Amino acid sequence: MKYPDSIERSAELLRLALPHMSRQNTALHPLSYALWYEHVAGRNAALSAVLNAAIERGDKLDEATTHDLYSRHVAEVDEHTAQRVSHGFQRVLTGMAESAAQAGDQTERFGSSLNRFSAQLSTDAGLALGDVLDSTRRMQDAVEQLNQRLVDSQAEIELLRDEVARARSEALHDALTGLANRRAFDQALAHSLAQDEAPCLLMLDIDHFKRVNDHYGHVFGDQVIRAVAQVMKAHVKGQDTAARVGGEEFAVVLPATPVGGARALAERLRATIAAARIRRTGQDASHERVTVSLGVASHVRGEAASQFFARTDQALYASKAGGRDRVTLAA
Ligand code: GH3
Ligand code: MG
Ligand code: MG
Repeated sequence: MKYPDSIERSAELLRLALPHMSRQNTALHPLSYALWYEHVAGRNAALSAVLNAAIERGDKLDEATTHDLYSRHVAEVDEHTAQRVSHGFQRVLTGMAESAAQAGDQTERFGSSLNRFSAQLSTDAGLALGDVLDSTRRMQDAVEQLNQRLVDSQAEIELLRDEVARARSEALHDALTGLANRRAFDQALAHSLAQDEAPCLLMLDIDHFKRVNDHYGHVFGDQVIRAVAQVMKAHVKGQDTAARVGGEEFAVVLPATPVGGARALAERLRATIAAARIRRTGQDASHERVTVSLGVASHVRGEAASQFFARTDQALYASKAGGRDRVTLAA
């Protein structure tokens, strides 16, 4: 029997329940009475938790809430409903257990307890609603924990991803100029050679850079290297890769590019750098000018990367020998 209370006890519960009932925005009907009767009798912990929270907030229960609470916390569920609910839970729990198990060691333990949980639910077809609710609450706690763990792992994953991205970027970029480094250059060159259309290669070396260092020191020397890199960044776009391949030596990989285009870029770089005045920060704050020499080559079918590089370097050397501040096309 659902209500085993004696006449005396039930009368006392009635006295306790009535003031509660009359404070709500709900008519004084049996459903409302059942709700508050169960509450004051202290035998429906789940319901009392909801009602106490409502009382604390100063909420007044309306008809809809009262009916909802009644059907959730008081009404006995028939076997069919219990089974449906139970199967629904089982599906959710199994799904969660699966994804939790995938998530690794810690969550694996969590997943197996969820599986145990869902097995219990499936065997007990005549499950009372109270048990279901109790299970739900425990499940909710578990889900919250899982969610928190997922949030934590997510944050950790994002941190790691940033770290990997930074490490990747550092591995492929030159620290002084931010241009591609030698390693990235080698990759870009190999990639360009794998394409159908022939790439061009451009090499650039700062003229008399030893003098710059000797006259003004390495700090200004570095400033000059950065200034040249800036010009390259401004002119090299899209699929092309500008790299610092040595101390004061740069290269540009131009995939699928006719030699005319590469030569025009080389000439633009040369002219822009020759026209620039690099400010020397310091006592006298003077402006210095530097020039660069360049070599340009178009890839010849079957030529190895190292050969291609050497041939472009020879063109650069020819520019140096010819008087510097110029562009030479490789033979
Ligand atoms: P050339 O016109 O023939 O190229 O003359 P150069 O003086 O530039 O000749 P070389 O290539 O022999 O000298 C390059 C100098 O650049 C040597 C080295 O001291 C200097 N250098 C190399 N890397 C760096 C760097 O990262 N910073 C600075 N400040 N100097 C560097
Ligand atoms: Mg050099
Ligand atoms: Mg040089």
